[in-house]
Parts: sequence; structure tokens; C-alpha cells
Amino acid sequence: MVVIIQLLYNIHTECQEAKLEIMLYWYNTRKGLHDPAIRLRRSGRSIIYSMKKIKALVLFSGGLDSLLAMKLLQEQDISVTALIFKSYFFSSKKAEKNAKQLNVPVIVSDISKKHLEVVKNPASGHGKAANPCIDCHLLMLRQAKKIAEKRGFDLIATGEVLGERPFSQNKNALEKIKKNSGLSEILLRPLSAKLLEPTILEEKGLINRERLEAISGRSRKRQLELAKKYKLKFPTPGGGCILTEKEFGKKLFDLFEKQPDFEENDLKLLFFGRHFWNNNTKIVIGRNKEENEKLKKLFQKGDILIEPEFPGPTALISGKSSKENIAKAKTLILKYSKPPSKKLFKIKA
Ligand code: SF4
Repeated sequence: MVVIIQLLYNIHTECQEAKLEIMLYWYNTRKGLHDPAIRLRRSGRSIIYSMKKIKALVLFSGGLDSLLAMKLLQEQDISVTALIFKSYFFSSKKAEKNAKQLNVPVIVSDISKKHLEVVKNPASGHGKAANPCIDCHLLMLRQAKKIAEKRGFDLIATGEVLGERPFSQNKNALEKIKKNSGLSEILLRPLSAKLLEPTILEEKGLINRERLEAISGRSRKRQLELAKKYKLKFPTPGGGCILTEKEFGKKLFDLFEKQPDFEENDLKLLFFGRHFWNNNTKIVIGRNKEENEKLKKLFQKGDILIEPEFPGPTALISGKSSKENIAKAKTLILKYSKPPSKKLFKIKA
């Protein structure tokens, strides 16, 4: 949408400044350096020089930082769309719900398969658990780039904060991500923008750098002030990506190592129960009624499901079934229940 008609330029006048702008525009367009915010068109003997509303695609996790990144851009009258990812390890649902408060359109992108590859073999390594944050960000940004090119976004923004996460948000990591994503010119981190190299849109004055933030470090003080100022609702920090949880990471690495030909169902199983290995066979024990029901739902051909006929947990055996594995699963069921003297089990294979 055209929002500012800045100049009516009569070709036959001596308005050198406008002439230069127009020449620059044509030159840039020919060189593929198209300025996304500037539009020129002829109208009779005049050329209309106009600016369209800048369109930003913002990577949105549902958390406060990315919510603020969107809000800061909206404050500059930039048209914002939330890009939400989903994978085997995180869903898009909470973020979709949380994006509603800013009234922005949402794009959901399923990166499950590519993300799993990155989790298995991250070029920049894992963080404290199974989180491959640098490569995960890179994957998301490359995906965002494809979407931006296809749908005509001028700018990609994230809620990254300099120094907030020692592994993935230190200055080197942010630079590396920016360079390797191929988005050097148009990747904006509104929360730390004033501490980072300006993007091309800031340099051209199309985004007011002064109205962006200079947040760094792990203190959330400034973010909380801004949340209050803009009356934003946000989830408490910490309930984020499960890959950052050490216990989950251990279960995942065990799966990669012991069942390298695992399937999607095996990944879903990681979210429930106590996990035990008997050689390369996994036994999962439900921790409560809800998990027992989940295990029943996740049962598939080749598995063995064992349910006690007394109050106690359900066990699912995934992998090679053998008398030894069944005996082991029964022992585990007994360990986590108070069995009666007669111990009967239902076995489904
Ligand atoms: S915390 Fe999870 S979703 Fe976020 S970058 Fe790291 S691996 Fe990716």
C-alpha cells in the first residue's frame, strides 16, 4: 500500500536532488539492488516517488522477546507478519495463540524433518542439552528467507538479544548466524539493534534506529518495562524449547545411539514416562494415568504393551521383543506399584 506521496517531479524542471534519487533507483533496480521501500511511477509528465509500507516477517516463538520485536516494528508503522515454526520438538499452538494480541497475520512453517537433521548433526554443536541453537536459528532464518522472497517481505526480524544466551546469542554467534543465513542486509534484531551493525533499512532512514532498543544481557528488566508499557501478555520464561532440558536431551541421545533407525513414533515417546534400556530395546513406564493412556495410544506394530491387572503403571516395549525384555518390563512395573500377592499382567503384542 502506498502511504506517502513524497514528491511530484516534473522531468523538465531542474530538481537535481530528485533527479539523482530517480537515477539511483533505476540504477539499483538494474543491478538487482532494489530498494524495497521506494516506488516510482509515471503519471503524465510527472514521476510519482512514493514509499510503500515496509513488510517485516518476524520469527515468533510466542515468548516476550519476539513479541516485543513485533511490537517495536508495529510502532514504526511497519506491517508485521509472525512466522511460527513447528517441529517434532515444539508445536506452534501457543505462539499462534499469543500472536493474536498484536493482531498480526501468522504463517506456520513445519520444519520437522530438516530440524531433526540439525538436532542430530549440528555443525556448531549442541548447547548444554540437545539444543543445537546456532544451527537451529540458521535453519529458521534460511526458511524465513525463502518465504520472504516468495511473498515479498522487505525485512526479517527476530527477538534475539545480545548476550541473553551465552551459546547462541553472543556477538560472534549473532554475526555468524547473520552472515551464514544470507540475510546480512535485512536481518534486524530490534531489541539489540542499537548495539549491532545497522541494517540497510536503518541506514537509509526507512527504519528509525533511535526508536529501537539497546538491550543486552540476561536481565529482563527492560523487556518487562516494555511489556508493561505496551500491555503485553506473555508466558513465563523457562517453559520454552524441550531440547534445552538435560533429561530430555539424555533420552534423545540414547535414542540416536541405540536405535538409529528410529521412527516418528519413537520421538513422540520421548515426551512421556520413565525410559529404560535393555541392550537396544527401550522400555517406557508410565508415570501416571495420563501417561499410561498416552503409551496405549502410541503402541504400534512391533511393540509390546504390558498392563498390570492391579493398580500400577503401563509399560511399552519398543524394539526387539524377548522373554528377557518382558520380564524386565514386569520388574519395572512392580518397582513403581504396590502389587497384590497375585500379580497378573495383560500383554498386547
Ligand atoms: S531453544 Fe530450541 S527452538 Fe530455540 S534455537 Fe535452541 S533448539 Fe532452536
